[in-house]
Amino acid sequence: MVDLFVVDAGLLFSTWPQKNPDKKLVTTQAVIDEVLNRRSQRRIDEMLSTGRLRIEEWSPEARSRAEEEARKTGDLDELSEQDLDLLALALTLQKTSRDMTVASTDFAVLNTAISLGVAVLEPSGRFRHKIEWIFKCPACGKVLREAPPQMECPVCGTPMQRKSGERRRIH
Ligand SMILES: [Zn+2]
Repeated sequence: MVDLFVVDAGLLFSTWPQKNPDKKLVTTQAVIDEVLNRRSQRRIDEMLSTGRLRIEEWSPEARSRAEEEARKTGDLDELSEQDLDLLALALTLQKTSRDMTVASTDFAVLNTAISLGVAVLEPSGRFRHKIEWIFKCPACGKVLREAPPQMECPVCGTPMQRKSGERRRIH
């Protein structure tokens, strides 16, 4: 098993990197920019200078795919630009056949990553199920498994609501 982890800002600020000193970390420039704007950046600087944490580029194709998948799962509204960059990075690394895991505490990131076929880790272990969202029209009761365009009911045009459907254990 290759111990390479794609990490977001939340994870970098958690105690997880210190508790797992053997893990290699990779992230996006946007995450680093956010992290360096905060005060507790020394640890991050140190990890960058020792090469334990690296910044890598994601491909635009991977970014589109991540966005498309998040739209299907219904997680898109919950994801920031930075989250989508991170998912794009995971896909980009996966394409070059590098074994890695997305480590995050953000459920929308984890949910989309699983949908993209990317391995995930949620350090606290609270995320145990992939959430299969369903979309329900409050007016006519139409139910869809994928988010419709503009979240509008295809039957009557009413804005659809996202509901938690099935939950599938991920580990
Ligand atoms: Zn409807």
